[in-house]
Amino acid sequence: MSDPAGRVAELRELIDAANHAYYVLDQPTVADSEYDDWMRELEALEGAHPELASDESPTRRVGAAPATRFAPVEHRRQMLSLANARGAEELAAWWRRARSVMEQEGMGSRETTFVVEPKIDGLAISLTYEDGRFTQGATRGDGVTGEDVTANLRTIRAIPARMRLPDGTPPPAVVEVRGEVYLPLAAFAELNATRAAAGLPTFANPRNSAAGSLRQIDPAATAERPLSIWCYGIGYSEGLDLPSHTAALDWLRAAGFRVNPDIRVVGDIEAVHAECVSWEERRGSVDFDIDGAVVKIDDVDVQERLGAVGRAPRWAIAYKFPPTTAVTRLDGIMVSVGRTGALVPFAQLEPVSVGGATVRLATLHNQDDVARKGLMIGDRVIVQRAGDVIPQVVGPLVQERTGDETPFVMPDRCPACDTPVVQPPGEVQMRCPNRSCPAQIQQGLFHFASRGAMDIEGLGEKTIRRFYEEGLLTSFADIYDLPAHRDRLIAMEGFKDVSVDNLLAAIEASKARPWPRLLYGLGIRHVGAVTAEALVAVAPSLDALLAADVETLAQAEGVGPVVAESVREFLSSDANVELLERLRAAGLTVVHDVPAAPADGPLTGRTVVLTGGLEAYSRDDAKRAVTAAGGKVTGSVSKSTSFVVAGVDPGSKLAKAESLGVPVLDEAGLLAVLSGESPPPERAAG
Ligand code: NAD
Repeated sequence: MSDPAGRVAELRELIDAANHAYYVLDQPTVADSEYDDWMRELEALEGAHPELASDESPTRRVGAAPATRFAPVEHRRQMLSLANARGAEELAAWWRRARSVMEQEGMGSRETTFVVEPKIDGLAISLTYEDGRFTQGATRGDGVTGEDVTANLRTIRAIPARMRLPDGTPPPAVVEVRGEVYLPLAAFAELNATRAAAGLPTFANPRNSAAGSLRQIDPAATAERPLSIWCYGIGYSEGLDLPSHTAALDWLRAAGFRVNPDIRVVGDIEAVHAECVSWEERRGSVDFDIDGAVVKIDDVDVQERLGAVGRAPRWAIAYKFPPTTAVTRLDGIMVSVGRTGALVPFAQLEPVSVGGATVRLATLHNQDDVARKGLMIGDRVIVQRAGDVIPQVVGPLVQERTGDETPFVMPDRCPACDTPVVQPPGEVQMRCPNRSCPAQIQQGLFHFASRGAMDIEGLGEKTIRRFYEEGLLTSFADIYDLPAHRDRLIAMEGFKDVSVDNLLAAIEASKARPWPRLLYGLGIRHVGAVTAEALVAVAPSLDALLAADVETLAQAEGVGPVVAESVREFLSSDANVELLERLRAAGLTVVHDVPAAPADGPLTGRTVVLTGGLEAYSRDDAKRAVTAAGGKVTGSVSKSTSFVVAGVDPGSKLAKAESLGVPVLDEAGLLAVLSGESPPPERAAG
């Protein structure tokens, strides 16, 4: 950098402007990732050029000055921000720095425990209770002075007007409870949809929607937004002496404050990292946005000795996750036809990186969804991607419209076969009624070959389209005639002997898939994987299925008259019966043979949980092997789980097992137990 002073000044100006838009107006003008990069660059420059450091720098300051439309509130104790770490290495570096300060302070030999909490992406607030009554609530503001939003906070039901205390206990004279106000994700989506439909500016993320909702001039407007709160600490108190952060959380819970139940205490930095990773995996399963995990040293004595540097305490760190939202352009809305004929609009986006992946397409469900979100082609839109969830378009940034955007019109003819579409009464989805629609047939074949059904590797969407166009594939049964066309397949452009032989081997292997998987693969309306599993109880074979009437079918667990009718209707078609007979003749499994659980197998009486991918087994085969050995496979880890089998890329179940002290085996360990070579692991006593 040739002119560090110039760059420092430039970055400070950019950050100050972004802070104002974000903290005061609740309408950010740049992406968080870009803002974070500026901050990091500025921190690095100030570190390398100490002569440029200044107390005025945004690296030393918290948030932004409070807005003048609210009365100012002085916090009794400063509300700080948090330093952040990305990944295990930066987390370990934070702990090394804290540890060395502890050593200088003569606390090097202290055993340290850590508290790991979700980092809620909302708005920090402070709630003052005097003699047990809620008297004042304030935003963080610049950390020293916040905004008085007491009337608005009173509309949040999760904030107690009076704290609960055991009978006879006098309330502490003053307590400042700290927490994060947030808008649940569903409410955020709803709020943005309503605003977009009314042509009002929308919020870029749940955090800004919470801040905007709380900082309304009129408390009645706040009351309309279903805000909630998680409390995570005590800022200041008179008449309370709590030795640790966990003691403070317990006290808050007992006094009636909402404290997240999944906060964990762990003993070393590796376990801290595992817990942070586990939160990252779970972030899509909670109804509030989390942008990281917060790690805090539990001992208050240690916290006080460590103190703060600049805008953040030394005793805590935010472990940041990659952002799950981004802003991009909606280039177009296309419509695809599903296997049941449903017309599904989807968004074509200018490629954008979200949560570590490039997103080009996002689902839009149906035409009502497009209308509800108020989307127009050409809009700048917020895209969200959480965990494995398919990317979604949250809504447009109405305020960024140029006037060149165009509305979306649902086609009135099927884009695949040009048949006029219908909208069955009471359904939101438009459908193509043509049973011979090429898109429906190809999607049906794709479903049949998919992993959850017949799992035919190599028979993906593109290959299906090629074979369909060549006239080789129009029904499921044709798949099993493909071996007879080996020479023709090899002669096709883009296919080689090896790939054809691999495909034919995968087709052969699929004949052994269990009967319920075939039933699911047929794509009968309303028959998902779970229903198919349930149906085999009353239709354990193809013959039994063909003979079953509606009453018999409806006896299966979870199967009502609608599903039973749908199955019966499928079977009433001669073409479908003929298809099933062709599949039987091809040698597919059409009988359900459940291995009887032995009373004295190596796993009798044991409950097993599987997580991650296994090499030698598919998930179903592994389940069958465990069942055949007398064991039971369940989906979630609890204290009564005997052991967990962790394969490649295990999920959060592994962390859960470790936190509960449930033994964990790898695949080799499972094989050894199944073969009787080693006994199943026992949970350590205590
Ligand atoms: P922060 O959000 O990174 O971390 C500190 C805050 O975390 C605390 O003040 C508290 O509100 C919150 N928090 C949530 N759960 C917590 C818990 N369990 N325990 C303790 N605190 C918890 O810091 P910040 O200073 O509020 O904001 C900085 C971030 O905001 C930046 O990293 C950036 O992503 C974003 N930002 C963006 C823009 C923009 O223009 N896009 C501008 C300013 C800030």
